[in-house]
Amino acid sequence: MNWSSISDETTRLLQDLLRFNTTNPPGNETPCINYIAQTLHREGIDSVVLESAPGRGNLVARLKGDGSLPPLMLFGHVDVVPAEADKWQRDPFSGDLIDGVIWGRGATDMKHMVAMNLMTFMQLKRQNVPLKRDVIFMANADEEVGGTYGALWMVQNHPDLIRAEYALTEGGATSIEIDGKSFFVCSTGEKGAARFTLRGRGKPGHASQPHMQNSILPLSKALVKVMESKLPLRITATTRSFIESLATNVNPGLAEMLRGVLDPALHDDAVAELPFPEPILRRLNAMCRDTATPTILQAGSKINVIPAEAEAQVDCRVLPGTTPESIDRDVRAILGSALASGELELEFGRFSPGIESDPSSPLLEVIKSSVAEHTGGGIVIPGLITGGTDARHVTKLGTKVYGFIPTRYEGPHMMGLAHAHDERISVANLTFGTQVIYDVTHKFCAV
Ligand SMILES: [Zn+2]
Repeated sequence: MNWSSISDETTRLLQDLLRFNTTNPPGNETPCINYIAQTLHREGIDSVVLESAPGRGNLVARLKGDGSLPPLMLFGHVDVVPAEADKWQRDPFSGDLIDGVIWGRGATDMKHMVAMNLMTFMQLKRQNVPLKRDVIFMANADEEVGGTYGALWMVQNHPDLIRAEYALTEGGATSIEIDGKSFFVCSTGEKGAARFTLRGRGKPGHASQPHMQNSILPLSKALVKVMESKLPLRITATTRSFIESLATNVNPGLAEMLRGVLDPALHDDAVAELPFPEPILRRLNAMCRDTATPTILQAGSKINVIPAEAEAQVDCRVLPGTTPESIDRDVRAILGSALASGELELEFGRFSPGIESDPSSPLLEVIKSSVAEHTGGGIVIPGLITGGTDARHVTKLGTKVYGFIPTRYEGPHMMGLAHAHDERISVANLTFGTQVIYDVTHKFCAV
């Protein structure tokens, strides 16, 4: 295979994908999806385009295997979050290629993987690779607003088109460098959500004659407790495997600190000692417990009136295994007696559970060996996504979903660009990712 020409072709594909403005809302993914359908058609590959609503296109295509093993699906969303064009150095929908870097909203979330998947799929067809598993390609709408018109709709309306034993989609992140080694995170689970409302109750009155039944008081006290307390430590299979895999590959001193993170008696001290940058520590904390973050406040409508009601929305993220009952109990334990007095109310919204796929599986073993080969010893470790992706919908079909977009560390300026200004990816990383995904798919699915 000529990887230099494949690299050029993948670059052009990504540039074209980035030029479709698929900002969600409203999404308007169909033109982008039709472009993918035409690209596949030129390769002699049939695809199905399904609109969940006008303009909300989803696409599925399949390379048939001999049926001896169940399918693998490569999938990704083509919608993107809004971009504030005036804060960017370049037009967010230009797809510009400047000094080996491709610019545009979606370059790292996640049109880059859609291009990698598409190129992998086309190469398997071009090389006439005999397959023992069907390989399914899906490009879908509406991930950024929850999947109602995308992956969730596909799961509910066309499950037979996308049912697979395993699937690969977004997740993981750029490799992290620790103790001189490169670690590539492959997400084997993600957190769910149990958002709640806190409501302070009081009595109205004239602000010129203050009293202590101001509803802002119990709410404020509750919010301080929520922000200063930590929900209980709980180590899931994925987090345990993440820490153990790191620990086995670093120096003994660091390994001991890492293993301390797993021990409730040593956890706080171990975390305090870890020589990691703040973003990694924040992520580690969120991998070890449910979290609750107040984000929206509402009280009062007039400067001289004491409000009888004050409300806060709290974004609560739950680990795989947390139940509606357990999170309710844990939040109540933090809030204490204020709830009994009636001056404070707690009301949970819809509960969406966290998900976890086996942190050791044949697919993960293939990912590990491919990454090691392509990076001269890079180490793949399981990880837990603290947000949510379409994986939570697709796992409803019994699919084991892994989040893995292989990209290498290229310095702090190329980190954390998803949803940020100046989103971009290097051609080197786009090519590297395509090589690894092709290799993984080939190893896992070829006869
Ligand atoms: Zn995404």
